Amino acid sequence: MLAGYAVHVDQSRGRRIPEPPHPYRNDFQRDRDRVIHARAFRRLEAKTQVFTRRYSDHFRNRLTHTIEVSQISRTIAGALGLNVDLAEALALVHDIGHPPFGHAGEKALDAAMRTQGLFFDHNLHALRIVEDFEQRYAAFRGLNLTFEVREGIIKHSHDYSAAEHPELAEYCLDQRSPLEAQLIDLTDEIAYNTADLDDGYEARLLPLEQIRGGVPVFERFFREVENIYPDAPDKLKFNEALKRMLNRLVGDLIANTQSRVNSAGVQTLDDVRSHPSRLAAFSPEVEAERKQAKDFLYENLYFSATLEPEKDAAECIIRDLFALWMENPKALPPGYQEQAERESLPRVICDYIAGMTDNYIISQHENHCG
Ligand code: MG
Repeated sequence: MLAGYAVHVDQSRGRRIPEPPHPYRNDFQRDRDRVIHARAFRRLEAKTQVFTRRYSDHFRNRLTHTIEVSQISRTIAGALGLNVDLAEALALVHDIGHPPFGHAGEKALDAAMRTQGLFFDHNLHALRIVEDFEQRYAAFRGLNLTFEVREGIIKHSHDYSAAEHPELAEYCLDQRSPLEAQLIDLTDEIAYNTADLDDGYEARLLPLEQIRGGVPVFERFFREVENIYPDAPDKLKFNEALKRMLNRLVGDLIANTQSRVNSAGVQTLDDVRSHPSRLAAFSPEVEAERKQAKDFLYENLYFSATLEPEKDAAECIIRDLFALWMENPKALPPGYQEQAERESLPRVICDYIAGMTDNYIISQHENHCG
């Protein structure tokens, strides 16, 4: 069933601490299940995706976004003959390192760390969560995930420089990641570009006419839908057009990746790893449409004046708490004070903040700075 260039679970480079095989789940299925049962995974439910204070119960949060990425990734991986279990595990873990308050939170945490000569990176933080912070098992710290899942956490979205990150040497930074990991970044984009149009429309921040005028691929499908269902309510026409847009992105990613694999003569996983560039990609035409949609969302939603006060408040909360704990480490919970004896204080504060949900950090801010 699996293509030659897929990751085969029986060829996995394995776990840091070897474990006996499970009677009816393979190692990638177990990794997927370990992610789902992690505390950091459950906290995604209370972390912002785009809207800091949810305008309604219908909007995505980081957990429902993650489930959508997982659904799309399984479909694409299956169609390409890739390892669906590995793709699913990678999709489910892909946002686990995100701090509260979405991109505003990430920016603010990074800015606070940079005042200390450090930085925050959500992929590196995700690796710390699964390697260290999750404590569920008596035999080891962390989730003891397979090499391929840890590698995918680091390598799914961008290529880290081997010179700048000697601590990541085991992940072979000079090689491409398997296709299962390469897919995740593009699937993430498919999921949020379409979902954010949906939530933006639902929140009345993006009127239908503005979307039609600013996202040409959506407009094309909307016209098609109007011809088929002239009497349908706008909301249903909107849904039909958005569904077609999502299908176009998915279908193109499958077809174009397959054709790049074929024309590169790629037959094995080693071929994928040693190929000079990533093989998973949209066609140039659909890549241009993807970029138009993304640019539209940046301009009209992510940077919209309406969301500005929420983002400012989020940045303020993170800045205040970071500064407070830097100045007064004794105000940290005992476990973090102990950790600060072994690691740098800013990193410990950053870990603490990054793990928080939106609700929890708001209550911490009220307690300490209110
Ligand atoms: Mg994501």
